[in-house]
This record gives sequence, structure tokens and C-alpha cells, in this order.
Amino acid sequence: MSDKPRTFPLPLSSVVDKGAKKTPLFAPVATPQTATQNAARHVPPQHGYPGPRPVAVPSKSHSYAMERAQPVVAPAPRQNPLVSDAVRRAMVQRVARQGVKDTVVLGALEAVPRHMFMEEALASQAYIDASLPIGHQQTISQPYIVARMIEVMRNGGQLKRVLEIGTGCGYQAAVLARVAQEVYSIERIKPLHELAKNNLRPLRVPNLRLHYGDGMLGLPQAAPFDGIILAAAGLEVPQALLEQLAMGGRLVAPVGARAQRLELITRIGKKEWTSETLEDCHFVPLRPGTA
Ligand code: SAH
Repeated sequence: MSDKPRTFPLPLSSVVDKGAKKTPLFAPVATPQTATQNAARHVPPQHGYPGPRPVAVPSKSHSYAMERAQPVVAPAPRQNPLVSDAVRRAMVQRVARQGVKDTVVLGALEAVPRHMFMEEALASQAYIDASLPIGHQQTISQPYIVARMIEVMRNGGQLKRVLEIGTGCGYQAAVLARVAQEVYSIERIKPLHELAKNNLRPLRVPNLRLHYGDGMLGLPQAAPFDGIILAAAGLEVPQALLEQLAMGGRLVAPVGARAQRLELITRIGKKEWTSETLEDCHFVPLRPGTA
């Protein structure tokens, strides 16, 4: 369902606080590059993450006879068929069938190894189209909605600076880093902020900065943003985030309590924004403060 865009002036209320503590994770933000260059730069050597696990080799204490009986030939590391490139491609094809058309977004989805963002016990479910638990009562978002939100925010254009509220395990941030030049992501739960850092480290994403703090305050020191994505649903979009949108910038957010809708808000003037309701969705709640 899709309402007609409506224009409304928004009250300037909240005082922006320097809430989110900056914790640079990776090297300084890379020199601006095009999304295509970004995509090329981050393509891992091969998509069969994780890399080969160490193979147990019989220790020196083994007798010669035993070594003869069991030649020391390490078996080739086998890729879990449930987390293979083919399975990820199939996931992307499903997302495309569900209506996501932006090939840049679909390409990013295909490149990011989602199973690396979840516990090993759940990794074999990584490429089904579902949100899954990541601890602390939070979830990794469903691939379809990740792609859909980025597609709506991107609107076929180049994204320079993007902000995500709700890093969680870091999956969507990694996908965003393939379509935007600079990505900032804020998480309010410290252990999840740490989890995202650990998940992202092996992927080496130089154009992504993770922050621990209350995302409802945004990140005034890095604003304005061409795009803002909220990965958690509030009853309304925080004023501070609207203020941090660049002119013409687009914010995509789930809004509501039990019944939630995806909203697209576009800044069209200093004190003017338009809003469009896109589709039903289901996200964890947006909460104030840090934990
Ligand atoms: N982007 C994640 C989704 C994580 S779920 C993914 O790729 O799958 C949403 C996250 O939003 C949770 O980790 C939750 O802790 C976080 N969150 C909720 N309110 C927040 C706030 N005010 N600031 C920052 N993060 C918030």
C-alpha cells in the first residue's frame, strides 16, 4: 500500500546532543570513490567465507607405522553447502523476485557473506529470507527488507554519506558500505557494537565507522547525510535525524509499535520534509539511551 506523498513542516524541538561517542574502528574514511569502485575494491578474493579451517595433522609423536597406515594428506577443506556462493545467489534471486530491482543493491547483497554475521549454530539458516536472533533480544534483519530499504534510500543515485541507526551484528552496515562512499552506523547496546566490530574486522571495510551511542540523537559531527536508515522502529522518526538529512536527502524508517509501516522521508527545504508510506514491516523497537 502506498499513500500519496504528503508535505509537512516539522517542529524544531530537540536539542542535538553530542551523544554518540566516536570509536573509530577502521582506517580513516577512504578517499571518495564511486560505488562501482567501492564494490570492486571490497570484493573478497573468493566468496566462500569463512576461509579454510586449520586441518588437524597427526603430531610428530605418531609412530612411523601409523603414518604409513594413515598418510598425512590433509583433506581439502569442504565448504558448508548451506553457506556457499550458490546459496547466496539464490537468496539474491528471491529478493529480486520479491521486487527489488536496483542491481547495485542486489550486487552488494550477493557480495556480503551474511553467514559471517551470525552464530555458527545459525549459519546454515543465513540465506533463508528471515530475521534471526543475534542476542540481547535483537535480530539480524531479513535480506529482503535490508535490500528494499537501501534501494528506496538510494533511489538510483550516488550516495556519499549514509547513517544507519541500529548496527546490530553489522550486516546491513556491510551491505551499505558497498553502495555508499562513507557509512556511519550507531548501536546502543555495547556488546552488539563489539560483536559488529568483530564480525566486520575480517571483511576489512575501510569506509565504515561504527559508533556506540544513542542513534536517536544521530551523529551531528558527521552530518549532513544523503541517506539515513533506521533498523529499529519508533512511534515517530526522531527530529534530530530529520535535521541531519542533507537537502534532498532520504530517510527510510519503520514507524509504529505492533503494526509498523516503512516510511520514506525526504528533506525538501530547511524546515520542510515530505513523507511517504511504503509497506508493512516488522522491526525491533527503537529505544532511547544506551545499554
Ligand atoms: N542493522 C541490523 C539490524 C539490527 S536490529 C542488521 O544488519 O541486521 C536493530 C538494532 O537497533 C538493535 O541492535 C538495537 O539494539 C538497535 N537500536 C535500537 N534503538 C537504538 C538506538 N536508539 N540507537 C542505536 N541503536 C538502536
